[in-house]
Amino acid sequence: MSVKRNIREVDQQQLKEYFEGIGDKKFRAIQAYEWLWKKNARSFDEMSNLSLDLRKRLSDDFILPAITLDTTQHSNDGTFKSRFKTYDGHLMEGVLIPTEKRFTACVSSQIGCSLTCKFCATGRMERKRNLNFDEIYDQVALLNDQSIAVYGKNLTNIVYMGMGEPLLNYKNVLKSIDKITASDSMAMSPKRITVSTAGVAKMIKQLGDDKVRFNLALSLHASTDKKRNEIMPINETNSIEFLIEALNYFYQQTKNDITLEYVLLQGQNDSLEDADELITVYRQIPTHLVNVIEYNPVSGIPYIKSGEDATQNFTDHLAKNNVNVRVRRSRGKDIAAACGQLANKVA
Ligand code: SAH
Repeated sequence: MSVKRNIREVDQQQLKEYFEGIGDKKFRAIQAYEWLWKKNARSFDEMSNLSLDLRKRLSDDFILPAITLDTTQHSNDGTFKSRFKTYDGHLMEGVLIPTEKRFTACVSSQIGCSLTCKFCATGRMERKRNLNFDEIYDQVALLNDQSIAVYGKNLTNIVYMGMGEPLLNYKNVLKSIDKITASDSMAMSPKRITVSTAGVAKMIKQLGDDKVRFNLALSLHASTDKKRNEIMPINETNSIEFLIEALNYFYQQTKNDITLEYVLLQGQNDSLEDADELITVYRQIPTHLVNVIEYNPVSGIPYIKSGEDATQNFTDHLAKNNVNVRVRRSRGKDIAAACGQLANKVA
């Protein structure tokens, strides 16, 4: 018995050949493709301009393992956190973050995470598996539906800042972005997409070689190897020096924006000396922005968010030294939807 193929792994040309092969018309491929990538059908039954027989035939020959919406929670700041279920019963989360001008979807790239960043809730979950490209795409499509239903607006931005390390699921992340940006699908500009990484130097260079067109964020969080090793074990094999080199290569090849993310942890990385070390790293990277992130509490993790004064002193010091710095207030904290809080819990 042959294994049924995922129909979304099949391109339009192959679909044409398939329809011809079963004695039907080639243009059915265009109709089916539209259902899959424009109208975001999640079952063959929805494909109403195909005959019942043809829909049955498709479901005999292919599978359509779309994700489904499991639960949604609404924060009092307008953020929506959704939990999604995969065809094989895994759970993962995506977040819709509205601001005055933007409607941003934050999506997951893996179920759980293999990195063990000490301050992150997802980092304490086991990595179960990578998400397939269509499962990443589905999150964007479902969050877009939600954005239209609630706010009457399409998504304007997408950040790969949910569960998982995108650069450890490289192929699927790139393929999902191909689909999101394709003119016969969602047609979103790659300039509105940001992939965030804890820092996999080799894959950052690969992004450069692949001449990708989206933006990159590095979760730096500490600016010396000693400190970074302590809070982000991935730094032991991807030192700051390697990351600086990889980011320069990425920029040289793509000229895309690079942002540094820096979560402020009280007494850990928020002194003026830490700010000076950050300035030293900033000067060696072709970046124009440091996003200082508020630490979001995670139960069982002993870190504390830096106080208002420490945050102010830290960011003032950066600004005085001509670092373009922005403080990112967290969103969706009341429903554990903020950065680093995604762990499939219903708050
Ligand atoms: N693995 C990728 C994608 C996750 S993005 C990466 O590390 O970049 C999620 C962002 O939230 C990262 O910058 C991460 O370091 C940060 N983060 C993790 N835990 C956090 C917490 N408790 N409070 C605030 N930010 C956190």
